[in-house]
Amino acid sequence: MIIATSPLEGARSALPIWTEFMLKAYELHPVRDAARMSFTPPSGIEIVKIDAESLLRATPSCQNTFEEAFVDGTAPATYCPFHPLKITKRFNGHRALAAVAVAQ
Ligand SMILES: [Zn+2]
Repeated sequence: MIIATSPLEGARSALPIWTEFMLKAYELHPVRDAARMSFTPPSGIEIVKIDAESLLRATPSCQNTFEEAFVDGTAPATYCPFHPLKITKRFNGHRALAAVAVAQ
């Protein structure tokens, strides 16, 4: 049995073609009712906001983000180091993180 191997994977070969196809399709046939386009992920899938620069979990300070679907337990565990949160207040003696961007 011969198993063909290729340096191409789906994300680098088929995905760009599919993305271009869908962008053209939506350009020619715009979505009339965006609410009908909503999607409820199946169980075992979590949607996580990702920072586009670090490709890690976005913090509220991250400006360029996108949502990505992950199988439970496979999403990045660490948060974006480029746009960290700042510890600003104490509540009942405990430090709390606030969604304030640290000066770069
Ligand atoms: Zn970030």
